[in-house]
Amino acid sequence: MPTIPRPRILVVSSSARLQARIIDQLIERYELVGGRAAERLQNIALAVVDERDWLSSDTPKMPWPVVVVRTRGAGPLPTADASVRAEFEPEELTERIETHLALARLRQSAANKESALVDQAGRARERLTFLVSAAEKMANSVSLGETLGHLCGAAVPRLAQWCTITLRENGRLAPPVVAHESPAKVGLLEELGRLNFQEGDRRHPVHRALSSGRAEFVAKAPESFITRLGGSERHSELLRELGVGAFMCVPLRSRGKTLGAMMLGADAGWRPLCRTDLVLAEQLATRAGAAIERAQLHHKVEAELSERQRVETALLRQEADHTLILDTVRAMIWYKDAGNRVLRCNRAAAQSVGKPVSEIEGRRVEEFFPAARARAYHLNDLAVIASGQAKIGELEELKLRGGVKRWMQRDTLPYRNDLGAIVGVVVIAVDVTERKRAEDLAVAKERAEREFVANVSHEFRTPVAAIKGFAQTLRDGAWRDDAERTRFLNIIETNADRLDALVGDLLTMSKLEGSEPRASVATAVQRVALDCAAKLESRAKRKRLNVYVAVTRGLRVKMEPEHLAQALEHLLDNAIKFTPPGGWIRLGARASKRKVLIVVEDSGIGIPSTHLPRVFDRFFRVMKGAQPGSPGVGLHMVKKLVEAYGGSASVRSRLARGSAFRLTLPAAARRAPKK
Ligand code: ADP
Repeated sequence: MPTIPRPRILVVSSSARLQARIIDQLIERYELVGGRAAERLQNIALAVVDERDWLSSDTPKMPWPVVVVRTRGAGPLPTADASVRAEFEPEELTERIETHLALARLRQSAANKESALVDQAGRARERLTFLVSAAEKMANSVSLGETLGHLCGAAVPRLAQWCTITLRENGRLAPPVVAHESPAKVGLLEELGRLNFQEGDRRHPVHRALSSGRAEFVAKAPESFITRLGGSERHSELLRELGVGAFMCVPLRSRGKTLGAMMLGADAGWRPLCRTDLVLAEQLATRAGAAIERAQLHHKVEAELSERQRVETALLRQEADHTLILDTVRAMIWYKDAGNRVLRCNRAAAQSVGKPVSEIEGRRVEEFFPAARARAYHLNDLAVIASGQAKIGELEELKLRGGVKRWMQRDTLPYRNDLGAIVGVVVIAVDVTERKRAEDLAVAKERAEREFVANVSHEFRTPVAAIKGFAQTLRDGAWRDDAERTRFLNIIETNADRLDALVGDLLTMSKLEGSEPRASVATAVQRVALDCAAKLESRAKRKRLNVYVAVTRGLRVKMEPEHLAQALEHLLDNAIKFTPPGGWIRLGARASKRKVLIVVEDSGIGIPSTHLPRVFDRFFRVMKGAQPGSPGVGLHMVKKLVEAYGGSASVRSRLARGSAFRLTLPAAARRAPKK
């Protein structure tokens, strides 16, 4: 049986007799110490003090409970100090001491209990403060990363030396977020997390916590734990390096769902982990679960919002690009519904009706096109909508105000909504007037050239046939007859001249094609005009035509004389050709500013006004086929000739009344009159 230590009693008395009596009485049961020096002694349970000493000034300051010994009947104590328990006859001393000791013990035990309770309450308050602060930080986090950061910060090193947080995201485990008291070991935890994540070992506490939703606590991990947990050699090596002494794994749950697990651990050298740590870890995990779910939800909402924003921005951009493209192209583009209403149109389309885009979109086509045209467009649209077949390259001739004609090429395509149903049409119209004109011109030119070749061949064939025929006739015997020979040779010569003239025209024309303006010369117009008239006089006479020449004297032009002669001769020749017998021809010339105006007029058949613009074109003839010996190159040659000298040619004519061909040429200085 263990011996209970005897209470130490301090005996203080100035009376040796009284002290001896007291000691006698108490020595059996208590350990007694004496003297005033004993005030400094340790572990004194109680002091027994002689009344006389009690009355001395310093005794009441004794730190222990005091029993004052006095003789019975000595009257009341002169002081009411709380440490004075009672006053007794020395005989009653033991009993009184026992009572006081029992009271003191009771008081002591109550004090111990109270301090334990205070300690406990303090720890509980500290835990609560810890949890509240962690929960507050997590709740105020804006992202999942921040929430997990606060959770790690709360767990390490308050609860453990390290921690890893593994979350389930979209049915899969995300790489864990880790923290270690020593930053140098964070890399270790990360590698471990990756390995565990890759190996996905079902025996790992994290997996168990995820599937069971229950916490796990191991106060001291045996070596077998590392061997069992380490999936690969590297895995075991990392665990050893980390030093897994104790660990706990708590699920992170919210509203009955396990979102992930938090693993907390420490190496064997760290403070031991206990059940209280587990409880606190679980309470922390409960608060974290709610915060994580909120953060995940927030993240999801944010992601959805930003996705929506991205889509909206992309749509706006697409729309802007679309408008830009629509407005950049020169083609007119119309989106219309089945009711002939414009859903959308580009700038070119709007310009074509002379209104801003905003005043066209949403309106019916009838509001800005004539009724008949709007109706024709609508019928065309309806055909495309009904058949689902695009109409490509349709040509439309538009007669606009002021008699202007335009050619439009139109594609009409079905316009489908997102579900693929045809809800209208897209019309793309291009103004092809210029192209059409060029095409028509090219066709006409080609035709003219074909005709030209035919005409030239024909023109060549007739004189060649004549030359050949008369040469044969001569050879066959006609040469013997003098008169016949002369006549035939004249015919051969005339036809050779005709061929020569034709070749000359063609050569002149081809030389003039693309040639540079000639060097300046000064040619007297009157001289050339009179020579030309004289040359053609006999032909004019044969047709009984009166030819007048009225040229101001001294007029000079900057043109080679043979070229001027070639031009005038051709105009006079045409005038003779196209003026019926009995008519007149006039060749006039006068100065006009710095130019000289030469006019060859006749009272002939005239030229229809529709042909006038083309009269100077190469190979043009008013009556094709009905003008033998006229390939249609002469007027073109005249025009080219005068243009080569910086001049111009034009014509005025009225059908059956006559024509006037006007040449304007740069004037050369007049020759000074002879003195
Ligand atoms: P070519 O070289 O064949 O004589 P031109 O180029 O001189 O032809 O003339 C072209 C056409 O213009 C003629 O075929 C004719 O129809 C018309 N033309 C030219 N001059 C006259 C005129 N003085 N009066 C009426 N028609 C004319």
